[in-house]
Amino acid sequence: MEVAERPIQSEAIRLLTDLVAIDSVNPYFPGGTRGESDVAAYVADYCSRLGLDVRQQPVLPGRSNVVAELKVPGASRAILLDSHMDTVSLDQMGPDGLRPRSRNGTLTGRGSCDDKASLAAMLTALSALAHDPAGLRCNVVFLASVDEEYLMRGAETFARSGATIDGAIVGEPTRLEVVVAHKGFVRWKMRTEGKSAHSSNPSLGDNAIYQMAELIPLLRQALEPRLAARAHPLVGPATWSIGKITGGSSVNIVPETCTVEIDRRLLPGETASAALAEVDAAIENVRRERPHLNVRRDEPFGAVSGLDTPADSAVVRALEAACRAIRGESKRVGVPYGTNASKFADAGIRCVVFGPGDVSQAHTADEFVAEDQVIAAARIYERAAREF
Ligand SMILES: [Zn+2]
Repeated sequence: MEVAERPIQSEAIRLLTDLVAIDSVNPYFPGGTRGESDVAAYVADYCSRLGLDVRQQPVLPGRSNVVAELKVPGASRAILLDSHMDTVSLDQMGPDGLRPRSRNGTLTGRGSCDDKASLAAMLTALSALAHDPAGLRCNVVFLASVDEEYLMRGAETFARSGATIDGAIVGEPTRLEVVVAHKGFVRWKMRTEGKSAHSSNPSLGDNAIYQMAELIPLLRQALEPRLAARAHPLVGPATWSIGKITGGSSVNIVPETCTVEIDRRLLPGETASAALAEVDAAIENVRRERPHLNVRRDEPFGAVSGLDTPADSAVVRALEAACRAIRGESKRVGVPYGTNASKFADAGIRCVVFGPGDVSQAHTADEFVAEDQVIAAARIYERAAREF
C-alpha cells in the first residue's frame, strides 16, 4: 500500500480540501460542464493506492461511478459506504466556490458540506480500514456516485447492478445524526394549452398563462390541506411545490402553452402512482367546474420512494454503536429531504443516512462544514464497518 498512513485528522481535511478544489458541478446545473469525472479520477487513484479493487461503473456518457472494494478473506457479508461526487452550481459562490478556505475550524467552498465532507470522511475511513483490516468481519464496498443532485442515476445504476450488499451507509450532511427515515419524491410537468393570437387582438386567442394562473390556486386549495394533514412521525407532512414555470414565446403573441414543473415529496410508504392519482382527481374536479381550462399532466420524469429503515437493522445497530463509541451519544432522526438511500432501499438494501455538516449549509452562497465533524465522521464510518 503506497498511501502513507497519516493521522485521521490531517488526512480527512487534506482530502476534503483537495476535493472541494475540483469542479464537479452536476451537468444539470448552470456551469456544469465537466461533470464528476475529475473527482472520479482523484477518488479512483486514491483507492487504487490503498490496494483496493477499483472499477469505474458507467452511468451516463462521460459520467461513471467509482466502486472500490476492500475484500476481507472469508467474509460473506458486505457493507456499502456511499457518497456522491456531484455538487450544485457554483453560481452563488462564484469561482470562490472552488477555493477551499479553512477558518475558525470550518472549511468553506462548494461541496464542502454536500457532499465532499462525507466523501473525504469515507475515503479516510477506507484508508484506516485498508491499513488495519484485522477484526473486520465484512467486505467494505465504497461507492462514489454521480448525479445525486439531479436524478440519482448513479445510485440507481449501482442498485440495479446486482451487487450483494447487506447494509448501506449513505453519507450526507446529517450533523452526525442517524437518519433512518426520509421522504421520497415524484416530479412531473403539467401544462395548459390555449390558442395563440396577435397580442393586439388577444380575444382571438386563448391565453395559456392565464389558464395556468387560474389553475394553480385551485389545485393548491384542493391538495395542500390534505397533504398537510398527512404526516409521518419522523419526517413531517407530505408536500408539493411548483418550482418552475415557462410559457409563451414573445410579448406580442398570446401564449399557446404554459408549463410548470412540480415536486411532490412522498412520505415513506407513499407511492408515486398514488400521489399522481390524487393530483389527477383534483385536476378532474377543476375541469368539471371550469371546462375552459385545458390541462394536461405529463408522465413523471423522476421518482424515488421514501426511506423507513427498521431500527433493529444490522446497519442501524452498527452505526449507532459506532456513534456511541466515538462520540458518547447517538441520535436517531428523520429528515424531509431525499437521498441515494431511496435507490438502495428500493433494491432491498437496508440503509441509513449519516454524515458531517448541516444540510442548512448545503446549496447556499456560504457553504461550509465544521472540520471536527468531518474527522468524527471518518472515525465513525471506520468503526461502523468494524461493528457490522
Ligand atoms: Zn448531498
